[in-house]
Amino acid sequence: MKSSLWLGCLVLAPLTTAVAQDPSLAAHADSLRGSITPERAWWDVAFYDLHVRFNTDKQTIRGVNHISYRVLQPARVMQIDLQVPLQVDSFVQLGKRLEYRRDGNAFFVYLEAPQQSGEQQTISVYYYGHPRIAQRAPWDGGVVWATDSLGTDWIATACQGTGASIWWPNKDTQADEPDSQSVAITVPNGIKDVSNGRLRSVTSNSDSTTTYHWFVSQPINNYDVAANAGDYGHFSDTYQGEGGELTLNYWPLAYHLEAAKRQFAQVKPMLACFEKWFGPYPWYADGYQLVETPHLGMEHQSAVAYGNHYRNGYLGRDLSGSGEGLDWDFIIVHESAHEWWGNSLTTADLADMWVHESFANYAEGLYVECLRGREAGASYNIGNRKGIRNDSPIVPEYGLNREGSGDMYPKGGNMLHTIRQVINDDERWRQILRGLNEVYRHKIVTGRMVQEYISRQSGVDFSKLFEQYLTTTKIPTLEYRISGSTLSYHWIDVVPGFDLPIRATITGTGYTVIRPAEEWQTVTLALPNPEEFRIDPNFYVLTKRLTPDETK
Ligand SMILES: [Zn+2]
Repeated sequence: MKSSLWLGCLVLAPLTTAVAQDPSLAAHADSLRGSITPERAWWDVAFYDLHVRFNTDKQTIRGVNHISYRVLQPARVMQIDLQVPLQVDSFVQLGKRLEYRRDGNAFFVYLEAPQQSGEQQTISVYYYGHPRIAQRAPWDGGVVWATDSLGTDWIATACQGTGASIWWPNKDTQADEPDSQSVAITVPNGIKDVSNGRLRSVTSNSDSTTTYHWFVSQPINNYDVAANAGDYGHFSDTYQGEGGELTLNYWPLAYHLEAAKRQFAQVKPMLACFEKWFGPYPWYADGYQLVETPHLGMEHQSAVAYGNHYRNGYLGRDLSGSGEGLDWDFIIVHESAHEWWGNSLTTADLADMWVHESFANYAEGLYVECLRGREAGASYNIGNRKGIRNDSPIVPEYGLNREGSGDMYPKGGNMLHTIRQVINDDERWRQILRGLNEVYRHKIVTGRMVQEYISRQSGVDFSKLFEQYLTTTKIPTLEYRISGSTLSYHWIDVVPGFDLPIRATITGTGYTVIRPAEEWQTVTLALPNPEEFRIDPNFYVLTKRLTPDETK
């Protein structure tokens, strides 16, 4: 699959629900999942108290989520999501079982107690069943029932895009996060669970199971909540960063402990680089963890899933082909970048996923820059262009839980690299990246808010540039002709009003900024050899040379 090359955190598989066969029913289901329906709009999640028991023998789960919420407007019908084939046993509020109607993956619950504005209430959702099995996690969602190489059970969850409701009931939209969350996972004795945040307690049960009580003290995306259970080893460390002392906890499989101690040494330089460029790590209160998983990786907040086999590169490969991607661990770097881009600053609609992935992709190049300098970072970024397909727009339709093209990774990263060229002031660019993380820390954003912030803080109107790269598949192309020492040039394949000043060799001494438009312009080249005319390759644009005879 196209984006499986790129990432440990993309899900492209469509929902395979019972209704997905009929296009109109599928559209209905997508709308229930992807939009803020009236039955979602009136309540605001305050706290999820989630308890899930994993039965490895039967590959079933059973649990309850006590959902505490603030009433924004009085209402009587509440939408809660839980995907087939999981079943709800009951919805309970104030000791009463409530009536409900199931519509595919959405439940509409008829509340009986008055729901007064400003009040906080709790509803409990008891559920059970065979959750969907993830066949290709993390590119599809569900539960992974694996074993390690010694035959010990090894469980993981992954659900970005597909949705957290594939394994636990919740308000399944990116637009609403709880202020904090409890995650209590029960597994058979012999394996231990590592989830998000901090381990508060461990309870030994009479039925040969153990419950691990984890607590996340800050807002968390629902798709970041994870169960990971296996025969884990453990070591810990601390990092002195911009936010003080950060605890680092590492959970490799027990027999990978030594390999992990070597490989995870990359965490501190990664944190130092990202704190420099993006500001303080967003979750000092909850700590930083890496957890080995049977799938490649995923940005599970404060418990990043790691499955890169203790190798550098992306499973040993350099996705950029530049030679700059081989001596650092792609999963540690890319997935951890999401702690800033995606987890702290989260988009309301999946259609704006570029904010998560374009910045995480761009962060890889910044990490190369931290390791080996500006030119190496740029080379990594430029190398990533070979992965751009321009098959469909990066931003698809809103409100339907749709993901855009996998170009959101390399093309989005190169869009940001191009913006940096225009700003042409690295310190200002760094302050913009830090500013986004300060202003929108722990918040829900839209893509437009991010675009407008960048334009406002840079003093450059990038709206047409964003429109071009995010909503079309066309790459701005400088069409030009050289006749003697006269250069004629203009943009083609651009949105109306496209505005991107670029650097070109005009004078023979370095680059000169030119500002092409759709109308032709001319300039006299002062190059010793006009054939040496070229554009600064840091700008992600194409060029097309016309012969002097070709008409304008
Ligand atoms: Zn990612």
